Amino acid sequence: MPPLTLRKDYFQTDAMALLIALLVASFVVVFKFFTNLSVATTVLYVTLVLMSANVFSVKLVICVALACLSVLTFIFIVERDYLNTEAVGAYVRCIVSLSAITFLALRSKQLADTLRRNETYLVGAQRLSQVGSVGFRVDRSEIFWSAETARIFEYSVKETPSMLKILARTHPDDRHLVESVFDQVSHHEPRLEVEHRLQMPDGRIKYIHMIAHPLPAQHNGFEYVGAVMDVTAARKSEDALFQSQSQLAHVTRVTSLGELAASIAHEVNQPLAAIRTSGEACHRWLDRSEPDLGEVRTSLDRMISSSNRASEVIRRIRTLSRNGDPERQRESFNEIVSDTLALVQYELSRNHVKLRVELAVIPVHVGADRVQLQQVILNLIINACQAMTEVDPRTRILKIRTWVHNDDAILEVRDCGTGITAEALPSLFNPFFTTKADGLGMGLSICRSIIEFHDGRIWATSNQGEGAVFSIALPALKGEC
Ligand code: ADP
Repeated sequence: MPPLTLRKDYFQTDAMALLIALLVASFVVVFKFFTNLSVATTVLYVTLVLMSANVFSVKLVICVALACLSVLTFIFIVERDYLNTEAVGAYVRCIVSLSAITFLALRSKQLADTLRRNETYLVGAQRLSQVGSVGFRVDRSEIFWSAETARIFEYSVKETPSMLKILARTHPDDRHLVESVFDQVSHHEPRLEVEHRLQMPDGRIKYIHMIAHPLPAQHNGFEYVGAVMDVTAARKSEDALFQSQSQLAHVTRVTSLGELAASIAHEVNQPLAAIRTSGEACHRWLDRSEPDLGEVRTSLDRMISSSNRASEVIRRIRTLSRNGDPERQRESFNEIVSDTLALVQYELSRNHVKLRVELAVIPVHVGADRVQLQQVILNLIINACQAMTEVDPRTRILKIRTWVHNDDAILEVRDCGTGITAEALPSLFNPFFTTKADGLGMGLSICRSIIEFHDGRIWATSNQGEGAVFSIALPALKGEC
């Protein structure tokens, strides 16, 4: 980015001012003595003042004007014009008009300087903030843009902006967004806002955000003024953050699965043992002097359904351990909860935890990434089990409830563990907060980022000595199925 500078068109030193004033004075004296055109010299004074106002600083312009007035007075005295009434009148007229013109020239110069400075500041601020300005004149289908907007769209500043040029840079998949903005412009909408991608000729993608409002009633028609922001850097860092969050979530998910290894082994072992038992039974029915084919068939059916159960467990685990970009889909809230519970049955019984489940009677759907939501529920259940290891096994009860409240699908995981202290409560969801000797403190922080990705809320409450309650609320989707 080239450095920003204020234009310096003026000579600033007093010595230079004096020199130029003297030069001007000598030039006019010489001109006056070698020609005898009095009108021409007056015009010359005025021209000199106006020209110097264009080129020099205010101080220099005053010097030039004073030099002209001095020369005028010098000639008036030397030529003894004061003896002639007509010449006195002409001299006074000349002095007054020269002074008035100098005053006006200085005023317009100051205004032009202020305007130029403001423009330089504006261009500088636009360049630094990467925000350009844009204007639409609706009745004449005209578009204006600032140098920064031209730079964002990667057009030369000299090129005249047009709808076609904007569309030519718009990403083909986002064209409909831009076209709908042009449509809103023609309908005089009170506010325009769009975020879309640009595709540069070399294939680079940029993200821009445009906001525009109508200008207060203009005598020359309906006009919008807006800001165009280059938000590429922000979008790219959001994407990178999203990627790292999903990778972190994957790592902790696999860690949770590791913690459930015994449970998972048990879940797979059970149907395998059932298959073996049914197989042995099959042998016995076949080894009879008169094989009982009916019983054989029943045993084979049992084997098939047990192997289905085993593959179902494997499918659940494979789904949970996969690493993919989170994708929200319409999912049954209760189904996600029961699917997760199926994975932890053995873990609960191993920890002597009694499970009470109350699922919403009315089926409720949420827009969720199934795997991520299961990860949250899994994490809350594992934490609950760990919190109950220190209490009497007879009182280890885990209650899971789902219901709908104010268009939100709510899940509550309530345990009877040690509870959460008032000091720990505000930090629970902070990364690396843990009270466990071997804890990492990332579980709840990841749960929160997952729930926020789902536009939901997660919170915890504690009844000291009576356990903890973790709740999540997700926007419920409308419609039955
Ligand atoms: P970690 O389990 O590695 O400590 P988490 O982020 O899952 O990380 O949990 C952070 C902390 O929150 C835990 O160390 C514990 O102090 C507290 N906590 C979480 N769940 C419960 C619970 N059900 N009962 C009591 N405290 C809990």
